[in-house]
Amino acid sequence: MSEFDLIVIGGGSGGLAAAQRAAEYGARVAVAESHRLGGTCVNVGCVPKKVMWYAADLAEGLRDAAGYGFEVPAGAHDWSRLKETRDAYILRLNGIYETNLARRGITLLRGRARFLDRRTVAVGDTRLCAPHIIIATGGRPVIPDIAGSGLGITSDGFFELTERPRRVAVVGSGYIAVELAGIFAALGSEVSLVLRTGAALKQFDAMLGESMLRILGEEGVRIDTHAVPQELAREAHGLRLATGDGRHLGPFDCVLWAVGRVSAVSDLDLTRAGVACDADGFITTDKYQVTGTAGIYAIGDVTGRAQLTPVAIAAGRRLSDRLFGGKADRHLDYHNIPTVVFGHPPIGTVGLTERAAREDYGDDNVTVFKSGFVPMYHQLTSRKPRCDMKLVTVGPEKRVVGIHVIGPGADEMMQGFAVAVRMGATKAEFDDTVAIHPTSAEELVTMR
Ligand code: FAD
Ligand code: NDP
Repeated sequence: MSEFDLIVIGGGSGGLAAAQRAAEYGARVAVAESHRLGGTCVNVGCVPKKVMWYAADLAEGLRDAAGYGFEVPAGAHDWSRLKETRDAYILRLNGIYETNLARRGITLLRGRARFLDRRTVAVGDTRLCAPHIIIATGGRPVIPDIAGSGLGITSDGFFELTERPRRVAVVGSGYIAVELAGIFAALGSEVSLVLRTGAALKQFDAMLGESMLRILGEEGVRIDTHAVPQELAREAHGLRLATGDGRHLGPFDCVLWAVGRVSAVSDLDLTRAGVACDADGFITTDKYQVTGTAGIYAIGDVTGRAQLTPVAIAAGRRLSDRLFGGKADRHLDYHNIPTVVFGHPPIGTVGLTERAAREDYGDDNVTVFKSGFVPMYHQLTSRKPRCDMKLVTVGPEKRVVGIHVIGPGADEMMQGFAVAVRMGATKAEFDDTVAIHPTSAEELVTMR
């Protein structure tokens, strides 16, 4: 039996952050990882997705170039070459993560970990024990439980594609559906976005989903609303998706399920550790990330709260600060977490939606400011996607509690504004800030 101060199960965003911070305080740390270091974000999430987003952005730029006087021939795009360079980049990142662990003296165990009891974990034949154990096992994509669903792929399969499918259905209406539909479309696929209701991105301010669907439609994406998947079947000309109301969508060369993610806990033997999950299968914790069992913690996607890389990292680092750095009250505040949907165009958002603000503060206490315009860049291009912005303020002092932007640059715009929201800035303080001209962001400090 090997003894440690901390065992971390899962070498993804949250697990690695917690392990490294603990080791910096001098703790003896072991990390168990069954796949590639870096977890979802590095291998099948944020990083390869952003590479594909850049490729799609370039494709749009090449189309726009004529408006700026360039004669750019419609060059063919080599998806498989991009995959090779993308995979090589990620392999380099995997290596950097391994080196970083070794440099901090962290023991890395390759294999699936499971609990033997509240203090003991097994990885293959190796047994480890520690007074502190962090579960950071993340999640995996959902495949709907309908006939033929195995004929489709998920976001994991998207990163395996070696060539661009010509006709694609993306089923879902959340982050992944919108992001991957935008990438496929910009790189030249015929795309259908299949929504089970009439709206997309329902967790965000309604303006964002409405604008995104309108822009995707203008870019040639077919939007199939109120289409509840019932069966997927292979026919002579491709895949056909039957819906609950009798429609048969397709044929498609690829159907991609983007219908949410579930926690990866099934082989952890959580009952031996006395750790409980909620009705959706996510591990429940208190605000200090402590599960129902003292000494066992859960961070990141496995807890189902704000499934974002910086959230997993922040929760992990704060937990190690508390356990090994003497910072007794250190914990993550899950309010006002900024986020970006890397669509085409991107969305940047932080704080309360207009609807949530009205529910929390009452209609009379909420003032909303909006702006919509075609960005200057698109004055000279043939496509004219609009930028839409909204500031949600509360109280007589008009404290800004929500900022919602869709349009080019929204992704890079939001980080700084999130600091202002977190600090409780008012509309008057936004207005007192001198604008940066000519930008889209300046609209946020000049709204009337
Ligand atoms: P993970 O990163 O999933 O790490 C969990 C690790 O645990 C994995 O490596 C897994 O192999 C390992 N593991 C599981 N079970 C065991 C076991 N029993 N024993 C040993 N090891 C185990 N977030 C953003 O902030 N920005 C983005 O742009 C973004 N894009 C995304 C795009 C896609 C397509 C997806 C799917 C996700 C994206 N995310 C994005 C979300 C982000 O990837 C996750 O929030 C983040 O990776 C969560 O980190 P984690 O540490 O909780 O889990
Ligand atoms: P989301 O929770 O964002 O969206 C899931 C979508 O699936 C919902 O829109 C839901 O529709 C739809 N859905 C659920 N079940 C079905 C079904 N049976 N048939 C049809 N549609 C269905 O999950 P994602 O998979 O898109 O992403 C998972 C998480 O990963 C995100 O929540 C996010 O935290 C993270 N992520 C972050 C990114 C970023 O930071 N840029 C990028 C990608 C992922 P309905 O709206 O009708 O309920």
